[in-house]
Amino acid sequence: MTFEVTVLGTSSALPAHFRHPSAQLVNHNHTYLLFDCGEGTQMQLQRFGLKRSKIEHIFISHLHGDHYFGLPGLLTTLNLLRHEKPLHLYGPPALETILKTQFQASSLQLQLDLHFHPVPMESPSILVDNEAVTIYSLPLQHRIACVGFVVAEKERERKYNPKAGHEYGVPVEAINAIKKGADYTQPDGTVIPNRLLTQDPLPPRKYAYFTDTLPLTHWDAYLQGVDLLYHEATFLQEHAERAAHTHHTTALQAAQLAKRNQVGALLIGHYSAKYTDLTPLLEEAQSIFPHTQLATEGETYAIG
Ligand SMILES: [Zn+2]
Repeated sequence: MTFEVTVLGTSSALPAHFRHPSAQLVNHNHTYLLFDCGEGTQMQLQRFGLKRSKIEHIFISHLHGDHYFGLPGLLTTLNLLRHEKPLHLYGPPALETILKTQFQASSLQLQLDLHFHPVPMESPSILVDNEAVTIYSLPLQHRIACVGFVVAEKERERKYNPKAGHEYGVPVEAINAIKKGADYTQPDGTVIPNRLLTQDPLPPRKYAYFTDTLPLTHWDAYLQGVDLLYHEATFLQEHAERAAHTHHTTALQAAQLAKRNQVGALLIGHYSAKYTDLTPLLEEAQSIFPHTQLATEGETYAIG
């Protein structure tokens, strides 16, 4: 089952060195989730051959422009294309007023089936809870209210063994129940225990998206078992003072968080325009947490 993230924007504050403002697209079993929507996101989607029409949920971390200025454009495009599928938007409460004002001023009657869900910015909250995933928001520490997001997969179905099923004469219509843990009863009443027909499922996977924050100390419980942590690493440690002043994290600090929580892998991004070459950021993080990668626009990273 696919669980991966494609990075669309890696720049903090302003576009620089051909890097774009924050956005990333998560694909969980062909359900598409967009995290942040910086300016140019719809162009980046197009550039990397990703279909904007497939997006079902959009999550906005905070209202600094580099995290959502692409949203009015994306929504207007979907509206022009007569997009019909429901679209769920999660973000700071003021986002709804901002969008309404913008669309009213241009006399745009949105025909989209758009559902706005205000995110509580001061406490952890469950935003999505369905059969496949639970998605949480967690308050971060930034200059304005800002949240991070965790996508936690639900326990997956047991792995059905078709060869064993064939041997025991399992009909197709019984397979779904078996994947959920049921035994199979043959027509003569013989019960075939589930363990003969299935294997344990792979463990559920977890993705965390933490951007625009001071180094965090209080969400460790939520980071337990995270397979891939995307964390901002706006500055190098030599600019730690600047990072603290602007409420950002250094590459070293992001790596310390990853190490402390033993996440599977760390993906750093949200680079300051100060840095043309990102290698020093990578090296700094890897000195603490070797399993670190630089988020690169257009690249897709497996989760788990
Ligand atoms: Zn910000």
